Amino acid sequence: MRYGDMEIYENYSLKGLSTFGIDVKARRILFLRGSSLDEPFRFMYDVDELLKSDFRQGPYMVIGEGSNIVFTKDYEGTLIKIGEAVFQGGGDGQYKYLTVGARMLTDEVVRISVGYKYYGAENLSAIPGNIGAAVVQNVGAYGVEIKDLVDTVDAVDLLSGERRTLSNEECAFGYRTSLFKQQPGRWLIWRVKLRFSTTFKPNLSYKALADELQRRGIADPSQQQMREVVTELRWSKLPRPEEYGSAGSFFKNPVVDASLADSLKREYPDMPVYPGNKLSAGWLIDRCGWKGRTLGRAGVWPKQALVLYNTGGCTGQEVVDLARAIQHDVRLQFGVALEPEAIIV
Ligand SMILES: Cc1cc2nc3c(=O)[nH]c(=O)nc-3n(C[C@H](O)[C@H](O)[C@H](O)COP(=O)(O)OP(=O)(O)OC[C@H]3O[C@@H](n4cnc5c(N)ncnc54)[C@H](O)[C@@H]3O)c2cc1C
Repeated sequence: MRYGDMEIYENYSLKGLSTFGIDVKARRILFLRGSSLDEPFRFMYDVDELLKSDFRQGPYMVIGEGSNIVFTKDYEGTLIKIGEAVFQGGGDGQYKYLTVGARMLTDEVVRISVGYKYYGAENLSAIPGNIGAAVVQNVGAYGVEIKDLVDTVDAVDLLSGERRTLSNEECAFGYRTSLFKQQPGRWLIWRVKLRFSTTFKPNLSYKALADELQRRGIADPSQQQMREVVTELRWSKLPRPEEYGSAGSFFKNPVVDASLADSLKREYPDMPVYPGNKLSAGWLIDRCGWKGRTLGRAGVWPKQALVLYNTGGCTGQEVVDLARAIQHDVRLQFGVALEPEAIIV
């Protein structure tokens, strides 16, 4: 079915729309057309059509590339997916800027920034998904989070119909969270303006990255080398999406109170404790013996215990069962509650 530029389908398979690859359906999906940047009027026309439609009558959700959502059963509502995106560059002497449509892949944004010698995003290389969702989740890797680069975010308030430009502060970023994540169903992000440095200083704060550069004998890495090493390091530890479905890190690293962190550290001297009493969820899961194990057709990735994956034909229930079993064991052994990082629907 098609209304204006917007395409609407019913009982739509989500197998190819979520990287976990679970074979479930959405009752309805709307594809907004018109790129948000080079055709803003066409895009806003679709947004107006959307706001006039009945999508709010049941559950609804904006989706990006589905790399952080695990659909465990049929979605009995409306999914909204925005159209392709382009970018514009610019600078003001002090900083360089890229303004990108929300649907642009995060890795494509990083690739463009490296090509332009706009500095600061290289450690985020090869993160799946698009830039709109990267903002929702405040994605991070190798010592950098997207919040470090966000200047402003243009979003439509789906409840009031208002169009807003939110500053970095207004986005209320936190560890893998933001205003947009805290207010599910309210926001449709359509454009993101990112701010880059004009001078290059490699961010080597993440030990595994610094060690890898040292191992390769790279003392003074270029921006391009940082991108290459991050990309290779990442894929040496994670399942390749074309081979196995996953959602990246399934759980957040838990933040515990200081007394629990201290007592655990006394009991397990090799346990990593990051600043702010943040523990390594991967280490806890590994210590419970889950690394490399499977439950039904859902598994724990052998090279990174934080990643749950689809060994092939896995159902949503099998993922839920595995996640619960891990949470149970970690709570029992360490007294720590693991919270999903991925959005379980
Ligand atoms: C192999 C692998 C590795 C990964 N590595 C990392 C990593 O290193 N660091 C990290 O932080 N994450 C990582 N992830 C998780 C994932 O890549 C990110 O969370 C990514 O930003 C999700 O993007 P997406 O387009 O797939 O979003 P989706 O999964 O489609 O959506 C995620 C959330 O964003 C919302 N959303 C999406 N688009 C919009 C929009 N335009 N407006 C409003 N809301 C929107 C959705 O409603 C949903 O709540 C990894 C995932 C995989 C599969």
